[in-house]
Amino acid sequence: MSILSLVNAACTRLIESGIRPEEAGLDAEVLARHLLGWDRATYFTERNRKVTRSFDKEYIALIARRARREPVAYLTGRREFWGLEFAITPDTLIPRPETELLVETVLHLRPDRSIDGVLVDVGTGSGCIAVVLAIEFPNMTIVATDISHPALAVAQANAKRHGVSERIEWRHGPQLAGLSGPIDLIVSNPPYVTTQAMQHLAPEVRDHEPHVALNGGTSGTRTLRALIAEASVKLVNNGSLVVEFGCDQEAVFRQVVNAAHLTDTQVIHDIQGLPRVGVATYRTNR
Ligand code: GLN
Repeated sequence: MSILSLVNAACTRLIESGIRPEEAGLDAEVLARHLLGWDRATYFTERNRKVTRSFDKEYIALIARRARREPVAYLTGRREFWGLEFAITPDTLIPRPETELLVETVLHLRPDRSIDGVLVDVGTGSGCIAVVLAIEFPNMTIVATDISHPALAVAQANAKRHGVSERIEWRHGPQLAGLSGPIDLIVSNPPYVTTQAMQHLAPEVRDHEPHVALNGGTSGTRTLRALIAEASVKLVNNGSLVVEFGCDQEAVFRQVVNAAHLTDTQVIHDIQGLPRVGVATYRTNR
């Protein structure tokens, strides 16, 4: 049997397990290439080769896991974010394309890449935001926090892989993990799904991704509110909070930052046109 026919059979199996056909075809191919160590070009020229027994066994096992809706990123152990490859484990949320908007927003807010100061990434997970910002702002001191020790270990490995492990200080704990400030920039993709909505998430997310990285309590805004409260006392003058939130949380974000006397509030929409990233700034002379 050829690799291609095995991949096609795997695709059918994934569709039967409820995965959308467009996604199933790509997943079946990506998992085959992962085992073979092939890029796309090699796959297209070599896919008519006969399968070896060891590939056959390993591939069938991977497809069975994918059919149980394990996300591809956990099966391959990696995901691209901001053009860089990150190691990913079930202890970390899989980086989403929306979160690149968070990074983009920080870059717009601070166009001068040579600035110094302290930037904190709250709930760093795989470390993707902290690592990218450490690269983009070579003179800033970067602190990354997380309540999960295993996630911090993954983030540290990713920082090492991208040559910025010396640039990032790691802290275990909630929100700012006891940092006293003053802080120039606070960046975060906190958990923001409501407890009620958790059960309606795709099986890949609900059954496999870490709930501590997703569940934002009954209102979905528990961490967001705590973060705004802390930011309002720890930001320097003209320092900003840049945060990702759920598409129905814009009003809460605006109301809570106003109540905390943060100012210059902006809300940025994602490519689907949904409010996704909020910015608010602390000014002493407001
Ligand atoms: N956007 C993510 C999801 O829908 C949620 C991420 C988060 O809670 N920070 O799965």
